[in-house]
Amino acid sequence: MSERRVAVIGGGPGGLYAAALIGLACPDRQVTVYEHNADGQTFGFGVGLTASTLGSLDAADPVSAAAIRRAGHPGRGMDLRVGEGVVLDGADNIAIGRATLLSILRERALALGARIEDAHVEASDLDDALVIAADGVRSATREKLSAEFDARVEVDDALYLWAGADFALDRATFLPARTPDGVFVVHAYPYSPDRSTFLIETDDGTWRRAGLDVTDARTPEGASDEESLDRLSAVFGDILGGRRLLGNRTRWQRFATISCGRWSHGDVVLLGDAAHTAHYSIGSGTKLAMEDAISLAAALRDTSDDAAAAARYEQERRPRVERFQRIAGHSHVWWKAFPRRLDLPAPMLMTSFMTRAGNITADAFAAVHPEVVADAVGVLIGTRPTDEQARDPHTLGELVLAGRTAEPGPDTTVLATGPLDAWGPAGDAVVEQARGRTELWLDGEDDGREAVLARCALSERLRLDLGAVVGIDVPRAARADAVGALLAGRVDRVRFR
Ligand SMILES: Cc1cc2nc3c(=O)[nH]c(=O)nc-3n(C[C@H](O)[C@H](O)[C@H](O)COP(=O)(O)OP(=O)(O)OC[C@H]3O[C@@H](n4cnc5c(N)ncnc54)[C@H](O)[C@@H]3O)c2cc1C
Repeated sequence: MSERRVAVIGGGPGGLYAAALIGLACPDRQVTVYEHNADGQTFGFGVGLTASTLGSLDAADPVSAAAIRRAGHPGRGMDLRVGEGVVLDGADNIAIGRATLLSILRERALALGARIEDAHVEASDLDDALVIAADGVRSATREKLSAEFDARVEVDDALYLWAGADFALDRATFLPARTPDGVFVVHAYPYSPDRSTFLIETDDGTWRRAGLDVTDARTPEGASDEESLDRLSAVFGDILGGRRLLGNRTRWQRFATISCGRWSHGDVVLLGDAAHTAHYSIGSGTKLAMEDAISLAAALRDTSDDAAAAARYEQERRPRVERFQRIAGHSHVWWKAFPRRLDLPAPMLMTSFMTRAGNITADAFAAVHPEVVADAVGVLIGTRPTDEQARDPHTLGELVLAGRTAEPGPDTTVLATGPLDAWGPAGDAVVEQARGRTELWLDGEDDGREAVLARCALSERLRLDLGAVVGIDVPRAARADAVGALLAGRVDRVRFR
């Protein structure tokens, strides 16, 4: 075994970027990337990168960052097409074709001395000093050492399909389509002057009623589900302008949330989707994989002991990754219940969307788009404030909370709840417990942020499922969350304690 050889399993963004950055940081190490898909053949269409991710890439390697920026397609805000719709202008993110991103990273890795082999390998085949398993969400390395990595895989019951279209939308667009079988939702965004990603999701019941389980079963391994693409092209004919959706090994999938109690074992280190995933609705998988690569390469540069470097990498990355996984978890649950909110007035729905994951409060959203928040306040209280009033957190809070801070009344049923998945089985149980009640109040001993967000989500479900008037207890520190929950139609009343 050579002390300096590094093997990377997987030539996705995480593996290729790790190879490039290790070449840059440790020129004496020989890096080989093994990728079993032929050069240029990859799944998917475009991926989004935020300004903050681009900043990390600039700092780690200005050369590849500049190439990525050059090839990227600028974001131009978003368009939520529900009811009268809401358009937000301005964005500092970019999107880039996955194949383009990979070819930039591949060239950079080669220029920095890495070798890239078209080969399928397993960690046990390799005798390199260090094996970086960047072999994606279905990582065979993780699966074979599942107990050693303490790996957990949670597979969603909803379905999504990653398709494309041969034109550039003006901006990121979210659009539901009600069909006799149920609701399909598009998350679409342009990623080049003539291409857009069209990610389409639906629930398991709609999928089966539409017979897409049958078309899925007929689709050969490695092919696209052309029948589904035909059907969805018709469903989303308006936004597609009559064009047909494009496939690239496009078929229905269920999102797998991966987490691992340990990211390394012996000389094997997990990186990117192999170690962790975060729901696609926050568009952060590529970011997390590439930032993992930055951290691991820096740790390898700073210590000659690979085990110590792997430990430092995990210590540095785990809290950041887990934060994103928490945010993604809220976003995931929000999207699952999205079809239930289609009758909300558009400004409220947009406020609900922006505050869905808890990382952006209504105040923060109002600082950038006061016009939307002012419209949402107008819907809630009947009088639209000025944009200036909406932008000021104190005034916003006063307007929204006036008449909506209350105590549970004598006929109110009070339920103590902890942090739970409002739209999962635990939420189902609370709905059953509360059935028949028209006035509900949610309290609970836990006043942590996660518990408050879960209470808001459960309150929303009780409002939607039972038509009940629902109040919640929140700590004073969660005032901004309470304002957001009222503006998003999640709760009717709040009591501060
Ligand atoms: C629908 C959808 C939409 C997404 N949208 C976004 C987005 O907007 N923004 C974003 O940042 N991310 C997005 N992502 C996530 C993103 O695509 C992944 O998180 C990212 O690609 C992870 O990079 P990775 O390098 O860890 O793994 P991957 O990109 O999966 O790469 C793994 C590579 O390993 C190869 N491989 C696997 N096993 C072997 C083996 N044994 N031998 C050799 N090669 C092997 C595979 O062929 C593959 O090329 C999205 C994902 C999905 C599913």
